[in-house]
Amino acid sequence: MFKTFQLMGYMGGVPTRAVNTTSAVLSTETFHIMIDAGENSYRNFLKHNYKLSRLKYIFITHLHPDHIGGLIPLLFYKRVIRNNTPLVLVGPPNLEEYVRMNIKYSDFTLDFETKFIDVTKCPEIIFNDNYSVCSRLMEHKLDCWGYRFDDHKKLLTFITDARISDNSYKLSDNVDVLIHEATFPGGMEDFAYKKYHTTISQAINLADSARAERLILTHFSQRMEKSKYVDILYNRMPCYISNNISEL
Ligand SMILES: [Zn+2]
Ligand SMILES: [Zn+2]
Repeated sequence: MFKTFQLMGYMGGVPTRAVNTTSAVLSTETFHIMIDAGENSYRNFLKHNYKLSRLKYIFITHLHPDHIGGLIPLLFYKRVIRNNTPLVLVGPPNLEEYVRMNIKYSDFTLDFETKFIDVTKCPEIIFNDNYSVCSRLMEHKLDCWGYRFDDHKKLLTFITDARISDNSYKLSDNVDVLIHEATFPGGMEDFAYKKYHTTISQAINLADSARAERLILTHFSQRMEKSKYVDILYNRMPCYISNNISEL
């Protein structure tokens, strides 16, 4: 069963002095799932007291650097410290090539068992018997997938980066937790549409229409004032959780 989730980074596009770009951890009693691996993900993972030997899955939404910049370093460090836990990497069709080219030019090998899953070939993934993940293509500048994680008791959906589309509703329908991007403040809908992103108001409307129990906002533009998002409540619960760990 899923126990907790945490955003290790929640800035969109560019990190700030204090906060990293996108990376989240979803945990069961025995293993962890990393969702996106923005820069510094390896160090953040250790800093938040997660064990690398329990990291079994990494899901990548898309290949923009603020979502994948920390992946190659993580694989490299894992190899150097001889951590041999097998790793499953799930993501866009070109994720495997991206990783293989990087490690080829950086001249290292993956000495641990690695499996790549192309989401386009596998929109429903069953893993560890009790868990499944449903993926849907989002509307973003670069092909990007949203994921809904299911442990047969709770549903958690992770969507960033994306405009709101039919697939946003399909993935968010009746979920217990919806983690959604809110790159821009309300009022900037036209601009957000042009940039293939979502505003805070649009994310709230989506959660509301889809009857999500809880909404967590992430991927804030560094140009958006913090006061625009820190105090927002949805269903009487805070949408901003910073780096704090949350129960599912
Ligand atoms: Zn992004
Ligand atoms: Zn992006």
